[in-house]
Amino acid sequence: MYDVIVIGAGPAGMTAALYASRSNLSVLMIERGAPGGQMNNTAEIENYPGFDLIMGPDLAYKMYESVEKFGTENAYGIVMDIKDQGTYKEVICEEQTYQGKTIIIATGCEHRKLGVKGEEEFAGRGVSYCAVCDGAFFRNKRLLVIGGGDSAVEEAIYLTQFASEVVIVHRRDELRAQKIIQDRAFANEKISFEWDSILEEITGNDMVVTGSRLRNVKTNEIKEVETDGVFIYVGLDPLTEPFKNAGILNSEGWVQTDQEMQTAIPGVFAVGDVREKTLRQITTAVGDGGIAGQEAYKYIETLDK
Ligand code: FAD
Ligand code: NAP
Repeated sequence: MYDVIVIGAGPAGMTAALYASRSNLSVLMIERGAPGGQMNNTAEIENYPGFDLIMGPDLAYKMYESVEKFGTENAYGIVMDIKDQGTYKEVICEEQTYQGKTIIIATGCEHRKLGVKGEEEFAGRGVSYCAVCDGAFFRNKRLLVIGGGDSAVEEAIYLTQFASEVVIVHRRDELRAQKIIQDRAFANEKISFEWDSILEEITGNDMVVTGSRLRNVKTNEIKEVETDGVFIYVGLDPLTEPFKNAGILNSEGWVQTDQEMQTAIPGVFAVGDVREKTLRQITTAVGDGGIAGQEAYKYIETLDK
């Protein structure tokens, strides 16, 4: 029986584990991949205090080292379900069930797919959702980036170090990205824009992507564009399938909590991007994690009385 079971080892889960284990609680952190979460797919981070600029995987590793120090146990596993048994909880993985007095959900979210023709067919053969993973394969190539948010624009800028040309395709005539990121993109000679446009199809030969078809949503004009790679950044979906029967999700699938990160189930907390919140960032994930680690300690004290 663990005091705390943390599900997910992104910045939110790692911070929750750090705070809980530093309070002398026994902590198990379950992760289905490498610790770091979305930071592992992020090129450069320049808005995490203390670092002028740090590569996402480097920050992930530094955070992991900090957690390790306080004795958190790690387990590889894909969490499928949780069960509230009153004074204790169960976390059910594919091959094993764990018991804990509290659960901290930190499963974050994942990139949304566009659902256009060719997207699935060419995934890994020219279609990507991760510039830091795949950008280097596209030296001197022509790339499309789909989306107008922080991810799309920031990763488009990152891709210009490899690509000869990066075209940002956005469905409106105004970007959603933060102003400072927009300004950098506008000043970058390798970046151009297809405004009011959506990607309708990705085409290619047997092996790789060679082109794409865009449609202007205002004029309905169709444009065929020679393309070597398509990077898709059209938002995020919560990773909350394992909790869908727990009665803790809002209508869009994000976990609802109070200010102490507690869900509708006493002793079950949620932190980071998986939560219903307005700003999904590393700083806010880390803040949530600290609060939940501390609140788990307080909750366990009430059980012991
Ligand atoms: P995540 O980082 O999503 O971690 C969740 C973890 O849970 C993952 O490791 C996942 O594998 C694991 N998990 C999920 N489901 C299960 C399951 N069923 N069983 C076991 N494990 C599971 N923020 C910034 O502050 N600055 C930036 O510059 C920045 N750049 C970004 C660039 C990109 C391309 C993207 C996509 C995001 C960026 N963000 C940035 C946002 C930031 O990465 C997130 O806000 C942050 O990572 C959220 O942390 P988290 O711990 O809540 O979730
Ligand atoms: P996002 O902010 O939700 O932006 C998604 C973009 O994709 C929007 O521009 C949206 O268009 C577009 N889009 C959505 N569905 C589409 C569709 N079906 N077809 C075409 N376009 C579509 O997602 P994100 O950029 O991934 O950012 C997610 C979170 O991470 C945000 O909170 C963001 O601030 C954070 N983040 C932060 C940083 C940073 O701080 N440096 C970097 C990356 C991400 P509309 O604008 O028209 O809705």
